[in-house]
Amino acid sequence: MASSKYIFVTGGVTSSLGKGIISASLAKLLQARGYSVTIQKLDPYINVDPGTLNPYEHGECYVTNDGAETDLDLGHYERFLNVPTSQANNVTTGRIYQTVINKEREGAFLGKTVQIIPHITDEIKRRIQILGETGEFDIVITEIGGTVGDIESLPYIETVRQLKWELGSSALVIHLTLIPYLKAAGELKTKPTQHSVKSLLELGVQPDILVCRTEKSISSEIRRKVALFCNVNVNAVIESIDADSIYEVPVLMQKEQLDKVVLNKLKLPLQQEPTLEQWKNFLSKLKYPINEVKIGLVGKYIELKDAYKSINESFIHAGVANESKVIIEWIHSEKIDASNVASKFNGLHGILVAPGFGDRGIEGKITAIQYARENNIPYLGICLGMQCAVIEFARNVLEWKDAHSTEMNSATKHPVIDIMQGQKNITLKGGTMRLGEYTCSLQKGSKAFSVYGKQKITERHRHRYEFNNKFLKDFEDAGMIPSGINPENNLVEVIELKNHPWFIGVQYHPEYKSTVENPHPLFVRFVKAALDFSKVASQMTPGGMSSITI
Ligand code: GLN
Repeated sequence: MASSKYIFVTGGVTSSLGKGIISASLAKLLQARGYSVTIQKLDPYINVDPGTLNPYEHGECYVTNDGAETDLDLGHYERFLNVPTSQANNVTTGRIYQTVINKEREGAFLGKTVQIIPHITDEIKRRIQILGETGEFDIVITEIGGTVGDIESLPYIETVRQLKWELGSSALVIHLTLIPYLKAAGELKTKPTQHSVKSLLELGVQPDILVCRTEKSISSEIRRKVALFCNVNVNAVIESIDADSIYEVPVLMQKEQLDKVVLNKLKLPLQQEPTLEQWKNFLSKLKYPINEVKIGLVGKYIELKDAYKSINESFIHAGVANESKVIIEWIHSEKIDASNVASKFNGLHGILVAPGFGDRGIEGKITAIQYARENNIPYLGICLGMQCAVIEFARNVLEWKDAHSTEMNSATKHPVIDIMQGQKNITLKGGTMRLGEYTCSLQKGSKAFSVYGKQKITERHRHRYEFNNKFLKDFEDAGMIPSGINPENNLVEVIELKNHPWFIGVQYHPEYKSTVENPHPLFVRFVKAALDFSKVASQMTPGGMSSITI
């Protein structure tokens, strides 16, 4: 294909309407018709990237293969499309301004006054077109964060206006709005949609397609009304009804023919009708699980489930792969101590300690791990969860009572987790982490090897601290196996226990790589181990599984 087509997705009325899911669903349908598609997110905040943001702000920070710290929507894009994204797929206002200001300092603007239009908008344009210019994609979908009318999004909407003018029929705008149901009136209301389209029009952008989020089905009369007031075709008014699972949305969008309307407007051939066979198979297993398993997720940000988005989704994928429903019990690490751990974990079939930074809740995590280790409960530790497993083992098996990570205690005599020399020299926050994809070599005969079914794997990282190889021999002698090693720098990537049915800690983040079509083997096998454990537990507990409240 000569050049890419561009689809812009904007949002109106309110945030949280699901722009990311609509973009990913549309991309899935276009991909199923044979197009290569990528999705980009433009975030209107001033942070250069979300790496320094507290998870309570915007949820999880998602990491790409090339080590970009990005918005969690990129996780949805990858989970839906099964195609990796990169730094180019997420751009923030901070990054745009940083680039323009750096250029200004270098004298690149030859003494001109640097302004939002054209300099900032040109830089936004360049960032949008970078993906198209790779020649890899037929269609680039650009999701504009925020809501139309926000001061922050103005330069983005202005850029969309300019690009739409320049690209003609090679670009279109999808505007996502809300059609609220007023209970007292017993009616769906179109006025907020009309107003939000007006706001876009004031900025010079006429949307081509309206995707209307609603809790009740919208009638053809409402569709006609919206079309009339907003200058769009009736068939370009698309209903986006609330769904039980985000994974149903591509099928719902197919029913509404969103993909067809888009291709017709872009003057692209429809090609083959998407069957979404694998996807639908996944959905039916998701809806009708045969078994149930209960996993305790221990973390310190559990009040905001989005903070562990990719872990949550990985469990959905792994549950389907095991034809089981995975019920996640969210357990606050700060609330766990030796006196309550048994009651808190009673009835759980697996324990996962989540990634994290800083020492809040650290002792609760270590207590949880001790409980999993001593009671043969399947355990998966991710990043900090792996580091805590190492600390727990050092304290309670090797009996180094002061063992710790130097992140939490820099004075310990047993720094079993420590910052490596190479990282020490980098001091700027946001630049100190080991980020992105690294290879790992798995030990033949280990549990990790059997999980992956191969020796060489690559996984994504986001951390500063590492297993301290100075103590490796002691750990090995006591039964903790370093079953995954980075062949380039010799760092420990995976640990497991010899005398435990299923206990694995990984320094990397497997959750970033799990997709609907490729559920991550670590999660799949962890859920399988939890299922096996539940069967044993039900035989042991008087009253069996019925004693577990689900
Ligand atoms: N805080 C730990 C480190 O920096 C773990 C990071 C994480 O869990 N992502 O190494």
